[in-house]
Amino acid sequence: MEKSFDDLGISPPILKALQEMGYKAPTGVQSQAIPHVLNREDVIVMSKTGSGKTAVFGVPLLQMTDARAVGPQGLILAPTRELAVQVDSDLKQMAQHLQHKTTAVYGQHNINAEIQALKKNVAIVTGTPGRVLDHISHGNLKTKHIRFLVLDEADRMLDMGFVDQVERIIRTLPGNRVTLLFSATIPAEIHKICRKYMKNPVTVEIESET
Ligand code: ADP
Ligand code: MG
Repeated sequence: MEKSFDDLGISPPILKALQEMGYKAPTGVQSQAIPHVLNREDVIVMSKTGSGKTAVFGVPLLQMTDARAVGPQGLILAPTRELAVQVDSDLKQMAQHLQHKTTAVYGQHNINAEIQALKKNVAIVTGTPGRVLDHISHGNLKTKHIRFLVLDEADRMLDMGFVDQVERIIRTLPGNRVTLLFSATIPAEIHKICRKYMKNPVTVEIESET
């Protein structure tokens, strides 16, 4: 039986936003992976571009973070500024009936504007590794309350040489967090990262339909 978004344990304000975004039914990866994320399990998601991975982390992160808490609770790392901007824009749409603030930080963006945005009690920050590390090391981005780490397009971050920066970021994060990794492919180096930084991860793999 095909699942509906209602069956996945998603809260009413987010269901309403998804409906307004034109999401009528969950994609395969969404119906398989969202329940694990809502259950606070570490999850490795392997599926092709366009399969709907943003909602797999976006929906549960919005649902499980507190809009009024002080300090960001979710950190999403993405390989390029276009992706960081896209993810943050999707989050803002998913959060249209919530109070959550989100922001994107990335290279070649006005750093002072980012610093001001980070002061405004954002719940979820999306960024490229270099700029995120920059904000962490200057104390603009406090990682003490991060409970969810998302590595989006992990294979591309690896190809672009971001592994060192990603590891340096991870080492500043609390150990009792949920880690979610998204990738179209899982090469050996990504397996290594998973073993090092994830706790008993569940793997959700969606074969591309041909
Ligand atoms: P991926 O990260 O796997 O490449 P995205 O999350 O960016 O995929 O989604 C690809 C496109 O499909 C986006 O335009 C997104 O808005 C749309 N989309 C995602 N989930 C659904 C859904 N359940 N119903 C309709 N459209 C969706
Ligand atoms: Mg994606």
